[in-house]
Amino acid sequence: MAVQSARTPQAATSIQLAPAGRRIDSSAIRDLLHVVDRPDVISLAGGLPAAETFPAAALSDAMADILATDPSALQYSTTEGYLPLREWAGTRHGVGPDRVLITHGSQQALDLVARALVEPGAVVALADPGYVGAVQALRLAGARLRAVPSDADGLDVGALADRLRRGERPAVVYVVANFDNPTGATLSLVRRVELAALADRYGFVIVEDDPYGDLRWSGAAQPSLATFSDRVVTLGSMSKIVCPGLRIGFVVAPPELAQALVLVKQAVDLHTSTLSQRAVHRVVTTPGFMAAQLDRLRPLYRDRCAALAQALTSTLGDRFEFHPPAGGMFVWGRFVEPIDTQALLPAALEHGMAYVPGQAFSVEHDHRQALRLSFVTTPPAQLEEGVRRLAAALGPAR
Ligand code: PMP
Repeated sequence: MAVQSARTPQAATSIQLAPAGRRIDSSAIRDLLHVVDRPDVISLAGGLPAAETFPAAALSDAMADILATDPSALQYSTTEGYLPLREWAGTRHGVGPDRVLITHGSQQALDLVARALVEPGAVVALADPGYVGAVQALRLAGARLRAVPSDADGLDVGALADRLRRGERPAVVYVVANFDNPTGATLSLVRRVELAALADRYGFVIVEDDPYGDLRWSGAAQPSLATFSDRVVTLGSMSKIVCPGLRIGFVVAPPELAQALVLVKQAVDLHTSTLSQRAVHRVVTTPGFMAAQLDRLRPLYRDRCAALAQALTSTLGDRFEFHPPAGGMFVWGRFVEPIDTQALLPAALEHGMAYVPGQAFSVEHDHRQALRLSFVTTPPAQLEEGVRRLAAALGPAR
């Protein structure tokens, strides 16, 4: 017998969202990825790492062995995370495991930090254009976002200093100091030192989000902001150097904040997947694994970035301005002509290529003439073809 539903469509739509649920916009990038998932489209829109680099066999062996020998790998575990993995992450950052919390990706770390540090209405300063996931997490916490301009050397710390002098008092300054998403820029050493000094002087916390720092293929690595101030929380991630699907990230925080973050995480999800932590730990501590993994990723991404840069220069010439990055996953550039990249996107898709329009990363300012291209999942010949299609969609110079 069929059961008749007494519900009406109106009843289903009358649910009242709390303010936090209304504060958050859908990520334009995720929305776009639904559209570009066509086999004929060369998509430079995604932010995904190259799947052929995922250590699937090593992870499979690790999981099989762990499951065969230790049932506690399927048990609840501590909120702080698997101690040997915390030790591993701590060692890489020169701190003890007591300062490390394992999180469900660094995206969760962002959420936890925002919940612990951002009162609704508190000011958070960040680069504009900015990482969409940070904008979402910070807005969800009720932050009032203040956009700081950025250039080829990253966040314009001088512009931030001017605002601080004029009385602006952020609780947090969020920065992707290495190979920023979306701009690919790396914060210069001088600016790192200046930003840390400002944190000490004005009392804000720097959230240093660093999922891309290990993907450097040229030039010297810059020191972490935590080298210069004790008011720094660093977020790390396994997503870009091992794989994103196991969702393992971590926070390295000053001691009091580390304790507070543990309590917040306890309320949010008790702990990160025990098996994921164990498997990732097994793989990254296998002698020689990390060195071999990075030796594989860096030249692959370097060559793809070079192919994209070469194609952009030879195909678009002076029409498109960009700074090729020394690592990471993204090229950010801007058309010199007044071309709206959001309006151009349907034509680009019709010609069989996709990118993310700059406006998707806007915190406050206009990035209509800009776009983000991801080069890491596309082989060089396809990158060239993608740029050729972009040029075809663009048409001749106006
Ligand atoms: N921060 C930045 C700057 C990112 O680009 C990303 C991934 N796109 C993340 C954090 C989140 O990464 P995950 O949660 O996979 O560690």
